[in-house]
Amino acid sequence: MRIPLVAGNWKMNTSVDEAEKLVLEMLDGLDRLDGVEKVLCPPFVSLVPLSMMLQGSSIKLGAQNMYFEAKGAYTGEISPLMLSGLCEFVILGHSERRWCFGETDEMISKKVKAALANGLKPILCVGERLEENEAGKTEEVINRQVTVALDGVGLNVPGGDIEKAERMSDNLVIAYEPVWAIGTGKAATGEQAAATIEFIRKALAGLWNRDTAEEIRIVYGGSVTGANIAEFASHREIDGALVGGASLKADEFVAIVEQTARIKGRDRTSRR
Ligand code: PEP
Repeated sequence: MRIPLVAGNWKMNTSVDEAEKLVLEMLDGLDRLDGVEKVLCPPFVSLVPLSMMLQGSSIKLGAQNMYFEAKGAYTGEISPLMLSGLCEFVILGHSERRWCFGETDEMISKKVKAALANGLKPILCVGERLEENEAGKTEEVINRQVTVALDGVGLNVPGGDIEKAERMSDNLVIAYEPVWAIGTGKAATGEQAAATIEFIRKALAGLWNRDTAEEIRIVYGGSVTGANIAEFASHREIDGALVGGASLKADEFVAIVEQTARIKGRDRTSRR
């Protein structure tokens, strides 16, 4: 049984003061909701104060990016060693990293391996651009992004740590985020998202095996709001959401998590 996950990606928004205020506004509302893993991904500078504020709560922290080297002459970068112990998750391969900062599938693959080797759980983002979608290339693009990023990951975890390999399914989250849906207000339909997520799961089965693929959480991201989350959460294939803009509004983010918990909880009860 996959535990649903809803993560808020605050992107390059909020000063430290604003981030603390936003957490205070959503803390109680989120904390009382069970059955969904709740993750906030603020800017790097707010990770330390928020990690203190969230101690003892059920809300987890994620970073929005990291570099793959442990340390050295990489001005401006943040290493996995700096993040481990501070947050549990790290968003990798977000389309804004790919398209604004030139990250390649190969770089993202190095980051995924470095995150796992340092006990961080990647939220690996994949998704096609509008022109690729319109040219009927969605599956080709997604297949390349998934297989290159995860090449050599899993049963061959760096360092050959078998224990880590066995926990792969808990340690990795994939976010299907069609680029044309991010920040545009034009979300995919539940059917479109579920179909591509099913395709991703098949690609994962090809990389590892069906059982492992069935256990890995795959969420949808792209203009998710309180008004449309039900359309995504009601699909068995979709394990939650990565939320950008709407995660900056406390009431709306709590409403997204609340609906996900309710819909997924009902599904679990009806399958018993
Ligand atoms: C995102 O940044 O990952 C995202 C999905 O943004 P938005 O919800 O604003 O489309």
